[in-house]
Amino acid sequence: MVSRQILLISGPSGSGKSSLLSKLFAEFKDKLYFSISSTTRAARQGEKDGVNYHFISQEQFQADINAGLFLEWANVHGNLYGTSLRPVTHALNEGKVVVFDIDVQGYFLAKKQYPKEITAVFISTKNSSILASRLENRGSESNESIKTRLENAKNEMKYIKDYDHIIVNDDLEAAYESLRAIFISMHSKCANFEIEEFCQNWNN
Ligand code: ADP
Ligand code: 5GP
Repeated sequence: MVSRQILLISGPSGSGKSSLLSKLFAEFKDKLYFSISSTTRAARQGEKDGVNYHFISQEQFQADINAGLFLEWANVHGNLYGTSLRPVTHALNEGKVVVFDIDVQGYFLAKKQYPKEITAVFISTKNSSILASRLENRGSESNESIKTRLENAKNEMKYIKDYDHIIVNDDLEAAYESLRAIFISMHSKCANFEIEEFCQNWNN
């Protein structure tokens, strides 16, 4: 039996989720599977279809909902985002740690389906001004989109208590050390351990 594990990351847009995950993938590529979400938002400069997201139309998204392809989906900042079920199941069966970068609504939906498998990590900045300046410096959003993302951040912060861990991404290297430690400790979570099998062998 393989241990089925999901590392789920949420946090306000601009808090550093992608930056931290790219470090984790650089170090542990072979052990991980990134769940590539589908979205109706436009690709940012540098983003690639099928790598960062599957960029699809509203019509296609609706057809995928109707076909039952999503494990969860949500409207986030005015665009639709969804996690495809099939590749996640496949990667879990292969023993990979599946990584979700999804919003708070998606977390609650996914947790219903994978209560034992999920280790949930909330990424935050030290304060809202730092979040604003990171979003501005990233240069990927219009002023309108930055405003929406900052407003939504206030709501998302209310749910930190529902996560297993919080990482305050002040210094990137220090924040990565925390994420790395969480990832490594996931392998010894009792909930994911084949306890009965272990105890049976232990007694023989
Ligand atoms: P998210 O994926 O959560 O939307 P990003 O990883 O894209 O956030 O980070 C937002 C911006 O902040 C990016 O320009 C990134 O390079 C920068 N950034 C991330 N972490 C830090 C940090 N600890 N210190 C300074 N800048 C950071
Ligand atoms: P961005 O547009 O900045 O890439 O992502 C915006 C938000 O959508 C982030 O909070 C991100 O975690 C979330 N998100 C990305 N993919 C999914 C998904 O498949 N489902 C849900 N519920 N949220 C997602």
